[in-house]
Amino acid sequence: MCRQCKQSSVAMRTEGRKTGTGSGAAAALRGVFRKWDALIIAVVIAAAALSVWFAFRSDGGEARVFVDGELRYTFSLAADGEYDILDGRMTIGVRGGEVYVVRSDCSEQLCVHSAPQSSEGSMIVCLPNRVVIVIGDREVDAVT
Ligand SMILES: [Zn+2]
Repeated sequence: MCRQCKQSSVAMRTEGRKTGTGSGAAAALRGVFRKWDALIIAVVIAAAALSVWFAFRSDGGEARVFVDGELRYTFSLAADGEYDILDGRMTIGVRGGEVYVVRSDCSEQLCVHSAPQSSEGSMIVCLPNRVVIVIGDREVDAVT
């Protein structure tokens, strides 16, 4: 009788151990943690993607105009527009995130004929006016 009891209780215990991982409070808790893990991972991925997106936006988000190596004007590329610089001697245009020189009083007109620029680090130069238009907010050493 006792032997039988022992056997059955042992059997129940092992049975319980087996099914315990698959069901019960611990498993429910683990399920909750798993849900939170997924949520946290999703949030982390979203935050990372957002920061990358913002980084890219801020990198290509503005054009900076250097005159004689000094930063004089900063234009956002987010909005289309035309900006007079050097008291109207040059006009810089922004269209569809691209920067170009609308007109200039310089003799060579190379800047006016330059291709519109939109990528980080690219630039448009007007040598006669000593103007350098740089896309992005990266530090520029080559200007001086
Ligand atoms: Zn020019």
